[in-house]
Amino acid sequence: MYEFAVTPAVTQLRRPGVTITEVEPGSLGEELELRPGDRIVRVNGRPVRDHLDFRYQTAGETDLLFEVRRQGSDVFEVEFDREESEPLGLMFEQIVPRQCANECLFCFCKGNPEDARPSLFVRDEDIRLSFLYGNYTTLTSITEDEMKRVIEQRLSPQYVSVHATDLKTRAYLLGVDEKRADISVKLQRLIDNGIEIHAQVVLCPGINDGAILEKTLRDLAAYYPGVVSVAIVPVALTRYNTDERLSRVTPEFCRDLIAQLSGLQAEFRSTLGTTFAFLGDEIYLKAGIDVPGREHYGDYPQIEDGVGMVRTFSERFDELMREPAVAVSSLDPGRRGFRDPRVSVLSHEPAGSEKPKELPSSNYGTFITGEMFAPILSEHIAHFNEVFGTEFHVVAAPNRYFGGDVSVAGLLSGSDILAMRDFVEGEFVVIPGAAVKSDEPVLIDGMQFSELESGFDVPVYAFDNDDIAAFFRKARAAGEIK
Ligand code: SF4
Repeated sequence: MYEFAVTPAVTQLRRPGVTITEVEPGSLGEELELRPGDRIVRVNGRPVRDHLDFRYQTAGETDLLFEVRRQGSDVFEVEFDREESEPLGLMFEQIVPRQCANECLFCFCKGNPEDARPSLFVRDEDIRLSFLYGNYTTLTSITEDEMKRVIEQRLSPQYVSVHATDLKTRAYLLGVDEKRADISVKLQRLIDNGIEIHAQVVLCPGINDGAILEKTLRDLAAYYPGVVSVAIVPVALTRYNTDERLSRVTPEFCRDLIAQLSGLQAEFRSTLGTTFAFLGDEIYLKAGIDVPGREHYGDYPQIEDGVGMVRTFSERFDELMREPAVAVSSLDPGRRGFRDPRVSVLSHEPAGSEKPKELPSSNYGTFITGEMFAPILSEHIAHFNEVFGTEFHVVAAPNRYFGGDVSVAGLLSGSDILAMRDFVEGEFVVIPGAAVKSDEPVLIDGMQFSELESGFDVPVYAFDNDDIAAFFRKARAAGEIK
């Protein structure tokens, strides 16, 4: 899920236009004398609400007329021609998210400690963020304007939290009435207009599992290929979720679920040609059962929701072990630094800052990760050490910040990581990149990355899977040279 910066939403919500935050030196934008702070309110006479509108209205246009509002001066116009697709070199402010009107039983906001970083309390429900970053919406309060916008601007795919197609159950889970909970007409309309849907079920034992889950999956499969896939992920309860209607997902529950769904998944593969209903990695890991093979996941349609990440990681690691050795520089160009929330194209992906990331130059160090992923990482690293003579260690950090059954790497707090200080061996520490906010160096409990670094005697690196692959490639080259 993309997590955005918390900005004074109320002051920004009603302002027309979109504010430029950066103008690339030497770009067409600079030539046009546009400046950071300028607000583009109309493009070719059409109002602009945000950077998505801007990109939609400028895409493919060669003759452009901007209406620009500049602080301290009157609105002025900028008229120009450009080559088709010639970049403007403009960066824009983030989208201020629209918030939901639900009161979900399991809402993650209720599971946050009070001092968690403010952005974790934002209940976003925004079709724009769904398109751009794969954030889920429930469609319960989507407006007619938003529906039209999704269709007109082809904001596809959309990620929709369905949870249950049984209306009573859905309404109960979302804390809304059945009329609001019913999204069948909206789903059909989006699909009829060519918008692809990826659905999600947050599974709450005793509420939307068993026969209700089977009905949900069969109902959604009836929309295939309009509904492309369904991710089934377990509800994650922290020690702050005290609602007695919720039960924890146990290993036994996970084993039963895997058994229950295997027949249905096989049926979907034979009738639809895809597994269609995918269980989150966490379910297999909790059950103590190996995640399925590569073919099960097809083109990994729900990987951002933790479906198939373990398989992808293992596949990449195995490939790396088989690759011919190549010398790798300490900077691996093309690796992304902290993710940049600015969007450079009208596509479903955040733009990377493309900042090369520095890699440790030592073959002796420690990887700190969440308890869920630690056994997988340990297994691969042990194999790597054996083959290449390196000395890498894995430390599983318990999540004391959230407690409960939270054990994923991305939710480790700064204090959880620091608590592992005495277990660190070697000359560097790697922590999960997902534990650091995507657009600023801060951890989930508000600890600055620099503060975390100062708590260790060795350098600390925040690595995502790409960085880990780059690092092991480099370590491997060094190991073979030795
Ligand atoms: S839709 Fe539900 S889970 Fe999502 S933010 Fe709103 S209340 Fe929370």
